[in-house]
Amino acid sequence: MTNYQLFYQSTNKDLQNGNQGRFSFQEALLTGLAPDDGLFVFNQIPQLDFSALEQLRGRAYHELAYYILELFLRQEIPADQLKNIVQTTYAPNPKWERGVSIPLELVKENTFIARLDQGPTASFKDFAAQFMARLFDYYRKPNQQITILVATSGDTGSAVGEAFKGLEGIKVYILYPKNEVSPIQKHQLETIGDNVITLSIDAKFDDCQAFVKQAFLDPELSGLNLSSANSINIGRLIPQAIYYVYIYLQISRAWEPLVFSIPSGNLGNSLACEIARRMGLPVKKILIATNANNAFPKFLQTGAYHKISPSLECVSNAMNVGNPSNLARYFHLFGGIVDKSGNVFQAPDLHAMREVLSGYDFSDEQTLAAMQKVYREYQILLEPHGAIGWLALEQFELENPELKHLKKVIIETAHPAKFPETIEDSLSISPENTPFLQAIQEKTGYSIAMPNDYTYFKNFLLQNT
Ligand SMILES: *Cc1c(COP(=O)(O)O)cnc(C)c1O
Repeated sequence: MTNYQLFYQSTNKDLQNGNQGRFSFQEALLTGLAPDDGLFVFNQIPQLDFSALEQLRGRAYHELAYYILELFLRQEIPADQLKNIVQTTYAPNPKWERGVSIPLELVKENTFIARLDQGPTASFKDFAAQFMARLFDYYRKPNQQITILVATSGDTGSAVGEAFKGLEGIKVYILYPKNEVSPIQKHQLETIGDNVITLSIDAKFDDCQAFVKQAFLDPELSGLNLSSANSINIGRLIPQAIYYVYIYLQISRAWEPLVFSIPSGNLGNSLACEIARRMGLPVKKILIATNANNAFPKFLQTGAYHKISPSLECVSNAMNVGNPSNLARYFHLFGGIVDKSGNVFQAPDLHAMREVLSGYDFSDEQTLAAMQKVYREYQILLEPHGAIGWLALEQFELENPELKHLKKVIIETAHPAKFPETIEDSLSISPENTPFLQAIQEKTGYSIAMPNDYTYFKNFLLQNT
């Protein structure tokens, strides 16, 4: 066992009045945000042991998951308990019926598509949400009631809601903007039920998020044990590093480097890949692929950060993020400081960043054209987010012909069945449904309508919790 002391600190720690404290994983998970408004980051990154890793080749996902999560959590969760949590999350279970599988499609020589869309809500967010829910369950004290608030523009709400569904002592409120989610996303949100309450708010996504933030600061709600499960929670980040290692074990020989192309919004998914790289995974390059909300790719190109406000509406709607929430963590990892509003206090080492990260952005027109081209030429069905990952890799290959021999992986972040309208419009075919989406089709949805009024929301929480 390596001798190290892992703790969590705030990305604002070096700012004036920043919080110098050390936090445990439990504190970071349950509070979500550091007291000085920074994001939680670890003080060091545990290292993969390559002989241990080689022994995990060909083994089930949950075995690898345990190996990696134990490196992060060994100081805080006893081995047998952690094993149990990991097994109930990733081994075959009623929520993830066949256990985790990650189909890898060989497109052409050295190029793969990794589909992270086989979980309960058909989005890669299931990988982290399912684990985080069980951690909350583990840390909840007997008789304690926890209330979780999630604002969502689509995929996060259903992944988190499905993950917490049925857990005792935990109530989840999902706030979604009434007119900004797709019909399938709305139906997914409204059919979760049980301890998960869906609020349909006559407002924009930013308003929903503001409600959640205000609730956390509201002294009248302090009795509710509020917690957040949004994309900044460290509990959503660590489990995502696992699948990059898993994919490596599926397609690479020992030490053989990979290129990953990752459709990105809040940058959590790509950051998890960077964490895996810092753990020692041989990753040659991480491609950050965005839609027109290209604040981060532009930063990588120019060195100047300008958030996009309001964010632009694109068909790849889960990536309509104008000011990525994980930016502060990227800056921190490369020696910089930025606050959550996008004000840069200290520039990161741009040269070092560019060694690892390349940013690319694409229009809706290019996205739809790529979906058509990939379907025509390869009979492969991509949804809009994955198509942007495809485009980024194409561009990277044009610019780096000397890296042709490397293996490359495009991450497909959602199942095409979640985007039937876009696929029918551009390809004139209907995507095949997943068993889960099929099953909820017959269910009746239910949500509580609410005006754009914080006091109304707050009184509702006080009366219902
Ligand atoms: C959330 C999401 C993304 C963006 O992931 P980040 O971790 O926020 O960068 C991309 N594609 C889909 C389908 C998503 O749901």
